Amino acid sequence: MGKKVNRVQYELNANGIKSLPMNEIKILLRGADDLIMSGGRAMLAKILAGSREKKLLELELNYSPVYGAFKDITQKEILAKIDWMILHHYLAIEYDYRLPLLVYTDKGWEIERETYADELFDKLIDAAKNGQYEFVELLKDRNRGIILLLLDKIADSSKKELVTILNAWQMIENKKIRTRIQEVIDVLEKIEDTLEQTQNQEVISFSANKKWLSLPEETRRKLERNVWCGSCRDVAKIENYVVKESSNQLLLQGICHKCGKEVKRVID
Ligand SMILES: [Zn+2]
Repeated sequence: MGKKVNRVQYELNANGIKSLPMNEIKILLRGADDLIMSGGRAMLAKILAGSREKKLLELELNYSPVYGAFKDITQKEILAKIDWMILHHYLAIEYDYRLPLLVYTDKGWEIERETYADELFDKLIDAAKNGQYEFVELLKDRNRGIILLLLDKIADSSKKELVTILNAWQMIENKKIRTRIQEVIDVLEKIEDTLEQTQNQEVISFSANKKWLSLPEETRRKLERNVWCGSCRDVAKIENYVVKESSNQLLLQGICHKCGKEVKRVID
């Protein structure tokens, strides 16, 4: 005897939105990552609005990197963006018994995995710089597609300084991933540190400064305030920094506002 399930109904309304810029699409997809098959449209709107709702805080969704990303607009306006995403097949709704939950479409996942892999790549670089090799524990049970994409990015980065953390990572991985990590290590170890690279650094720093100053001031201030300090084990403000450039990325090198120890931040 099947009992009729009273599904919670929903109605999509993009409220006249014609299109969304790619950076917003990425934010919306990143926010949904913590909710896939566990939360719906309303919770995503709350994350992006930076809501202090009890349930959201209990689920630690305030640690999402896009928490509060749309705090300047109303939740209703955010919901319209979310509905636009569903109507344009970046996200979809699937029912878990009664509840309509968010899932990625192939199109949405294609974008999100790239965003997520970039995020992990930045974190890995920071962890390597600060000798926080325990970071690799966080990589262990991740989606395999993302991990392989991350390893491709590492192989393409020419960042030889990542070899030590890759060795640490390799020790805790299963065979398939371990093999791929070894291939990446082999690629990085072939890169030679040339004397020329060091000599060019002074010249480069001029162009690095120029690039840095071409960023909007608001962005620069935000980046300055958002530097990981290995000693404080917290996000800190960077002071007395110089701008450098390495493998097409800008690097801020300075000291932590709080403890005075050396900190760095990569900007791409
Ligand atoms: Zn510090």
